[in-house]
Amino acid sequence: MAEIPVLQNILEANEAMAAQVRSRLERAGVVALNFIGAPGAGKTSLLEQTLPRLHGRLSVAVIEADCATARDAGRIKALGIEVVQINTGTGCHVPAHLVLQALDRLPLERIQLLIIENVGNLVCPAELDIGESGKIAVISVAEGDDKPQKYPMLFRQCCAVVLNKVDLIPHTDFRRERFEGDLRTINADVPLFGVSCRTGEGVDAWVNWLIGQTTAR
Ligand code: MG
Ligand code: ZN
Repeated sequence: MAEIPVLQNILEANEAMAAQVRSRLERAGVVALNFIGAPGAGKTSLLEQTLPRLHGRLSVAVIEADCATARDAGRIKALGIEVVQINTGTGCHVPAHLVLQALDRLPLERIQLLIIENVGNLVCPAELDIGESGKIAVISVAEGDDKPQKYPMLFRQCCAVVLNKVDLIPHTDFRRERFEGDLRTINADVPLFGVSCRTGEGVDAWVNWLIGQTTAR
């Protein structure tokens, strides 16, 4: 008699859902990037700077995940971008099954890049596979320069790091050399983009890298 595989725990169940997400995205030719960062790092602000620059170059949709409200989805929608809001309630990350549900509400065949803005949290989103092509770490100067050492999992797992609010560096104790040095001990080759979503500094280089991801894969 054939054995019936039993899903032993939530992580295994999540893996199965992540595999479904991944195969649906691959079939539709969609690259999906999972944006992970603390509350207030500027994930949505980064999207507000990024999405207009992709206009006419890349077709994009966004999944916004927050515990509550559709505020961030509203900000993305205002840019004329297709967006689905997920509310996780008490959940501190977006699980793969909610991403799978969100895919039903998006025109995947018309999309090249799907951006998933995760719940503001540097811990469990870094560990959890949601079927994405890659994870993006979004960190800000205001959080301090010690984050790579304190949250190594995220910086090890990610395929790019965006350091936001670089315009604040002169007004804080943030030491960029220390940040970069610590990052390099954890992930020697990961691309690092210093940006300011207030001034637009550095955003073009980041956007060019992003466009490259949809053609490189
Ligand atoms: Mg946000
Ligand atoms: Zn969590």
